[in-house]
Amino acid sequence: LVSEATSKQSEDNLRSPICCIMGHVDTGKTKLLDCIRGTNVQEGEAGGITQQIGATYFPAENIRERTKELKADAKLKVPGLLVIDTPGHESFTNLRSRGSGLCDIAILVVDIMHGLEPQTIESLNLLKMRNTEFIVALNKVDRLYGWKVCRNAPIVKAMKQQSKDLQNEFNMRLTQIITQFKEQGLNTELYYKNKEMGETFSIVPTSAISGEGIPDLLLLLVQWTQKTMVEKLTYSSEMQCTVLEVKVVEGHGTTIDVVLVNGVLHEGDQIVGPIVTSIRALLTPHPMKELRVKGTYLHHKKIKAAMGIKITAQGLEHAIAGTGLYVVGPDDDIEDVKDAAMEDMKTVMSRIDKS
Ligand code: GDP
Repeated sequence: LVSEATSKQSEDNLRSPICCIMGHVDTGKTKLLDCIRGTNVQEGEAGGITQQIGATYFPAENIRERTKELKADAKLKVPGLLVIDTPGHESFTNLRSRGSGLCDIAILVVDIMHGLEPQTIESLNLLKMRNTEFIVALNKVDRLYGWKVCRNAPIVKAMKQQSKDLQNEFNMRLTQIITQFKEQGLNTELYYKNKEMGETFSIVPTSAISGEGIPDLLLLLVQWTQKTMVEKLTYSSEMQCTVLEVKVVEGHGTTIDVVLVNGVLHEGDQIVGPIVTSIRALLTPHPMKELRVKGTYLHHKKIKAAMGIKITAQGLEHAIAGTGLYVVGPDDDIEDVKDAAMEDMKTVMSRIDKS
């Protein structure tokens, strides 16, 4: 009885899982994010009108809405999903090799027309090294000859609408790709046929253009993490925060974009990186449509993990992407916190030197 109560309690206290997107260039990582988000960063970025915080938060209600056609009764226990969306970014490579526990799960994007490519293998090796769970998004299914669009439909439903020829071509390509994964020492299987999740990695066919399979991908991400990572996802008040990017933003000076993995940040908190300063403002984009408008951040008095946050403060030009951010608590000795920050910075710098 006691253990039941405890597990109930911890379920109520789960933070959002953090997910990153990896894969070869041009497989559709950016497009997939756009599709999930319902925005168009690709075009926006080209026009230079967008600004990013490096992480997008999907509240549970949004995920519920997007997945309702799958009729999954299982309840969502996590508050949402935080997706790190700087896949091609310099500092991300730094973060990746860091082996920090930043991402709880990854989406590995593979182009169904191309199969495994050099950077797919590179990503796989990083995932293996870190022991990170991942789900394969087998993207661009709409490019199979004669694809009938079923916008945003669950994949099984969409597949049923397709011709026998198309289904055969799909199966042939899928089998080849499963073989390629096997050559890398990994078992993979279509997610709805996968009876051994954990041993066998799941494949979700998707189209980032017409949205087929996106509900499946979202639901699988959330259900899998909340089922198998309860301990890791149990909210802890111990702060864990990583700098994603250091950048100048008009009207705000030098800012840092961080991922708050655990704990709480408050306006006015004294933070320690390479510098000691106080948080002037805690900013997030507007949920789900953050990339539309310029200069419209939401201000927060405090923010609880997990979340992507833009921090403004003095002296941030000395901050370094990939390093941890430390908060001086009421019982902390500032010198101890400085030492910890310095250690962390040295590790990151030596890694940059080596690469
Ligand atoms: P990234 O380099 O992995 O971020 O790839 P992008 O998201 O920039 O996509 C590369 C190209 O493939 C772009 O021209 C996209 O429009 C296109 N693309 C991405 N996903 C899909 C898809 O699911 N179907 C089709 N037909 N094209 C896609």
